[in-house]
Amino acid sequence: MDFTSLLLAVTLSGLCLSATMISVWTSVRRDTFLLTWAGAVLLLVGHVIAYWVYVQSPSVFALACLMVLLASGLAVLYGAAHQFSAGRSPLRRSLLASSAVIVPEVPLVLAGYDGAALVVENFGALAVLCMTAWVYFQNRSEAPTPMVAIAVMYAACGVSFGLCGLMVVLDGQWVIGYAPDNWAEDLNIAVAVGSMTGIGALSLGLSQSRNAARHRAAALSDPLTGAMNRRALFMRYGEKRFGPFMAIIMFDLDHFKKVNDTYGHAVGDLALRTFVDVARRHLRADDDFARLGGEEFGVVVARITKGQAQSLAEAICRDFAAVRLETDLGPLTCTASAGIGFGDAEGASLEEVMHRADMALYEAKRSGRNRIECTSFRLAG
Ligand code: GH3
Ligand code: MG
Ligand code: MG
Repeated sequence: MDFTSLLLAVTLSGLCLSATMISVWTSVRRDTFLLTWAGAVLLLVGHVIAYWVYVQSPSVFALACLMVLLASGLAVLYGAAHQFSAGRSPLRRSLLASSAVIVPEVPLVLAGYDGAALVVENFGALAVLCMTAWVYFQNRSEAPTPMVAIAVMYAACGVSFGLCGLMVVLDGQWVIGYAPDNWAEDLNIAVAVGSMTGIGALSLGLSQSRNAARHRAAALSDPLTGAMNRRALFMRYGEKRFGPFMAIIMFDLDHFKKVNDTYGHAVGDLALRTFVDVARRHLRADDDFARLGGEEFGVVVARITKGQAQSLAEAICRDFAAVRLETDLGPLTCTASAGIGFGDAEGASLEEVMHRADMALYEAKRSGRNRIECTSFRLAG
């Protein structure tokens, strides 16, 4: 393939990659790093076109353009990496990285030292690409294989630019007047095209798996309170056996229908969120707290005695009853009742322990509400 056809192929694949990123972004709009990445690829495509123009007829203007486009494209890729990993705006890092390269190289081009400018450009590209690789490598815990692969490809691409810079240094040509043509330049084109295509494909895959993880999390949590939902609790404990020191405490807000009817649904929602906040303050990191239904919550606690479970439930109910919610109709206080169900030596199922807790809760409601009951007995049937 001749040089022009090769650059044309690179341009077309860059445009297709960019278009794919933009079209994927339209369905996952919160992944704005895809847009940033697409923008970076467009700048790099611009660089390839300017490079072709420079090879055909070398001029200071074409050289300055291709250098600015390359430095900006790589800097925006660096910004996109930060946006991908930390969700922060890519602007500051992109501007810093691009100006760190452009500010020294453009005066060199204008002064006629194109060889020196190429050294700055290539070593600048090496630095920016290695920093980008480092960002992915540091965040590899999210998806180790693709993230490390992306880091390796960015680093390889950086090294191929470094080799181009090294060739200019070894030749000692600070003034060249045309595009260098050597094995390092050929290697650089091959590595850059291969790595950018690979990185693009892996980034799309990462965006899709992030999206799937978000959907999974949404399917297992309650949108109002952020607590896990009944389905998540059953997924986690459906197959487990509950021993005699493992319990479920079920809470149900008292006269909640009246709260909604009197103060409105929004105040009811606030009371539900408040209850979850209060409960979380008392729970240990490994206690699993779930919203089981409307105003009903459950917490699975392991390694706990009857007295400790009773104290925990009492502390949550007492602190919740002490909260004064400010409403348009004046301050509101709510109470909750709780029922505790324990497992047994034979190992009870989640359903059995929940049924015990439910019976205890029913008893707490029947005996006047704002109280806690506990059943550790095995129910007949
Ligand atoms: P009890 O003391 O016997 O538990 O009486 P209650 O009124 O709390 O019991 P009931 O189960 O009859 O009422 C539950 C109410 O919870 C009914 C429903 O309007 C309300 N509810 C369920 N989900 C939500 C929600 O997401 N937001 C709000 N604001 N209310 C909800
Ligand atoms: Mg209730
Ligand atoms: Mg209820």
